[in-house]
Amino acid sequence: MQRISTGLPAITYNGQLTRFLRFCFCSRDWTMADIRLKTLTPLWTGGVDGRADRVHETGLLGSLRWWYEAIVRGLGGTACDPSRGECQLGTQMCDVCQLFGATGWRRRFRLAVINDQTAPLWQGDQLLNIRPPGRNRGWFLPPGRMGEFTLRLDSDQESIARVLALLRFVERWGSLGAKPQLGYGVVEIQNWDELRSQLNGFSWKQAAQQLAPNKQTSNPGLPNLCDFGFFRYRFQPPDPAWWSRIGGFERVTIQVRPFATQTVPVAPALKNAWRFQHWQRAWGDDQRFWGRVAADRIRGRVAVSWAYPHDSGWEIRGSAWLADVRDDLVWQMLIDARIWNTTLGVSGKLETEGPQKKDALLTFLERI
Ligand SMILES: [Zn+2]
Repeated sequence: MQRISTGLPAITYNGQLTRFLRFCFCSRDWTMADIRLKTLTPLWTGGVDGRADRVHETGLLGSLRWWYEAIVRGLGGTACDPSRGECQLGTQMCDVCQLFGATGWRRRFRLAVINDQTAPLWQGDQLLNIRPPGRNRGWFLPPGRMGEFTLRLDSDQESIARVLALLRFVERWGSLGAKPQLGYGVVEIQNWDELRSQLNGFSWKQAAQQLAPNKQTSNPGLPNLCDFGFFRYRFQPPDPAWWSRIGGFERVTIQVRPFATQTVPVAPALKNAWRFQHWQRAWGDDQRFWGRVAADRIRGRVAVSWAYPHDSGWEIRGSAWLADVRDDLVWQMLIDARIWNTTLGVSGKLETEGPQKKDALLTFLERI
């Protein structure tokens, strides 16, 4: 191996030179991480014209930022409302814009999709219309993309660690891309064991101490992880055709069968049961909480995934943002396994994490 003798640390020519030069000319040590991801439910990242022709970075960034904002608010930091563009260079930047950028301030990391091996779950632009019993229109689902792809992160070590921790959270409890309320965007990290070392001792506890203390009272209109509940339902299907007996599936059996061993769109059936069979008017504004049926102009506050195989059984998971409703009663409904069992015609078990205060939230995040 050829070495340059300059008195500087020995470097090799193959590949490390770029990294070395970056080290010299950047104020921080730039580095890179490749995260190999596999979709468990379809991924919808949209595009400029709204077509899911490939995995789009902007769609991934939007969802990562959304979850990071919720975490930062939950940990007591500052997160501006991006729809109002509150942060600008020259003023005090919020904790989220410091990582994700704002007007005049570059994002602290580069993110690129490489080696995109995903494909549409079904061909053509036709929507899958799932109409549970009692619904006239039901839910309309676009194909989304399934498969594997790699995310390349390029940044300083500290930001890489932060984004990796965020991705780990998203893998365990969140989702990537758009349409989470319709169950899209559940992913699995394929190479976590390799990536773990790049966390470099990152801890949410430490990160929380560095956040700018938020002096404003929290805005209930913006997501805060303290107001979230998370659930995971696991079951063993009695037979391969378990899904075909769910209310509303008789009309779509032919469309669903080709991919039913990979993933099954159970979100409409569950939401239908919760919203139209168990919701009580006194609990809060149902339009606001559930969003609009058949459209998602108002983002619903419950995200429940499609079902996907996991270990030797199947799994469905999701989250609920429980602000502005009777959170205790709504939460009890969402984690009532009897509703899940009856709606899906299977028998399963729920693992849950209810809404929690900052300290408990930290413990929850650290466990991930
Ligand atoms: Zn900001």
